[in-house]
Order: sequence, then C-alpha cells, then structure tokens
Amino acid sequence: MDYQQLIEEVYNEVKSANPRGKVADYIPELAEVDGDKFGIALVDLEGNVFGVGDYEIPFSIQSISKVHTLTMVAHIFQSKLWSRVNVEPSGNPFNSIAQLEFEKGIPRNPFINAGALVITDALTSKFDDPIAEISKFINELSGKECVRINQEVLDSELKHSERNTALAYFLKAHQNFNNKVEDVLKTYVSHCAMEMCCVDLARSISYLANDGYSIYAKREIVTESYARRINALMLTCGFYDEAGEFAYRVGLPGKSGVGGGVAAIMPHKFSIGVWSPELNEKGNSVKAIMALELLTDKLKFSLF
Ligand code: GLN
Repeated sequence: MDYQQLIEEVYNEVKSANPRGKVADYIPELAEVDGDKFGIALVDLEGNVFGVGDYEIPFSIQSISKVHTLTMVAHIFQSKLWSRVNVEPSGNPFNSIAQLEFEKGIPRNPFINAGALVITDALTSKFDDPIAEISKFINELSGKECVRINQEVLDSELKHSERNTALAYFLKAHQNFNNKVEDVLKTYVSHCAMEMCCVDLARSISYLANDGYSIYAKREIVTESYARRINALMLTCGFYDEAGEFAYRVGLPGKSGVGGGVAAIMPHKFSIGVWSPELNEKGNSVKAIMALELLTDKLKFSLF
C-alpha cells in the first residue's frame, strides 16, 4: 500500500469538496487560528512518516490529550478508577452539566470533560507536578521533545472555564474529586493547551496501534489488554455525541479535540493525525472526519 499516494488523494479530494464549519470560539484564543489549515500525517509501525499539507505545523491538541492522561492512570483503573468513571458513550455534548447531575457525580466516560477532570484529579493526587509528568510522558511517547504549552490558549481557557469549574464542583459535591478545584483545572487546561503537529501526535498514539508497545519510547506503555480497552473507549466515546456517526463513517478508534485535531489508529498497521480547525456543531473537525472517511473507503477496510 502506497500510503503517501493514499493520503495525497484524500487531501486533494477534501480540499476540492471544501466542507466548512466554524472555528471554536468559546476559548477566544482558538478563534484566532486560520480555519483553512489542513494537514494529514500517517505513521506506520516501522516509524515511516507520510505527510501532506500542514502536517508539520503545531496546533492545540485540546481533548486529544485525554487519551494520554487516561493512559497514565490506566493501570489503576481495575482497582479504583472504574468506580469513579464509567465506560459508556454519553450521547450528550462533551461539557454537559445535566448528565453529571442525573448520574450522581459518576461521569459517563473518561473523554467527556467531567470524566477527564476525574482523571486529572487522580493524576494530581499521584504527582507533585502533574503537568510536568504529562508533558514528559507525551514527549516520551513521541520520541522527542515536541510538546509546548501555549500560554495564551491556557490563559484564555482559564478565564472562560465556568462550565468546567461547575463540573468540578459537582464532582466534589458527590465526593468524586479529591484535590483543590483550581489546581486540577489548571492542570486540565494546561494539558488541553498543549501544541503538537500531526506527525508527533500520530507518533504519540502509535502504541495503541501496536498492542501497547511504543517503538519511540522503546517500551510497553500499557499491556495489550489495556491497549484494546483504550481503543474500545475511543471508538465508543472519542467523538462524544457523534461517536456513533464516526464509527459508522470511519470505523476506527479515534479522538477529537476542539483545536480541530483528530488522532486515530488502525490496529497493527498505523496511527494517523489529521488537523483542520473548522468544527461541526458537535465540536469535531469537519475536514478531518471527511478525510478519515475517504481514507478507510479507499483502503476498503477499517476495524470492520
Ligand atoms: N479544553 C476544552 C474544554 O474543556 C477541551 C474540549 C474538547 O477538545 N472537546 O472545553
């Protein structure tokens, strides 16, 4: 399979169809990003890189970082964390407050904001300097020092984090939050404000395509069994209330972020990072989803 030709075909078809959305503006700094940016990077399990468009330009990874933070605590899930976070698709927007109230402070899954806040709370209990640990971990997964926290995006989101603050206090009211709300929020917003390019992002989740072993870190990141479970969560919950549609159209485990990025994996073959900032009303990148749909159509296989 000529991956370079494949992603170039996909890139050109998406460019000429030119589906449009709207750049996220509830984090004001993200609204400044050029909506026309578009890049794709595919990395295979030998470490070969195939790229097209703006694939080397760093962008705000936002909620894609929830895959990395989940991985950092995956091993304590069996004992403790599964009682604090569920593994069901939410069918609701990623920042829903109503759902958390109905479900008595146990978030539906680790990828909606409430669930990710519980994960970041667990990391805050575990580490003195959680954000340094998260950065170190993602750099290790990518095989280089590539993570940079964009201070303007961080400050911009912190100034507008009323909903995430409300979620954190709801969690606390249900005894599902152990640290100070402002400390955990700062760490959460910092890992969301990390910037990486499509290649480094694809490299950073390559272990999920490779039974838990990272060829960049040169070690097992999680067991094969956890890798399968994280992939199952990405497939069922990675796109919030659009997870069903992403599974239907693309058929790969993936995770989106409101910076317009999508990271996805094809088990035992490759990982892929796609970036285009304009989003649909569910907060997922319009061009990235179309690109991945074309990609699996052309490949004639997905998970299914
Ligand atoms: N930092 C964003 C938020 O908490 C992440 C959301 C996303 O990427 N879906 O709202």
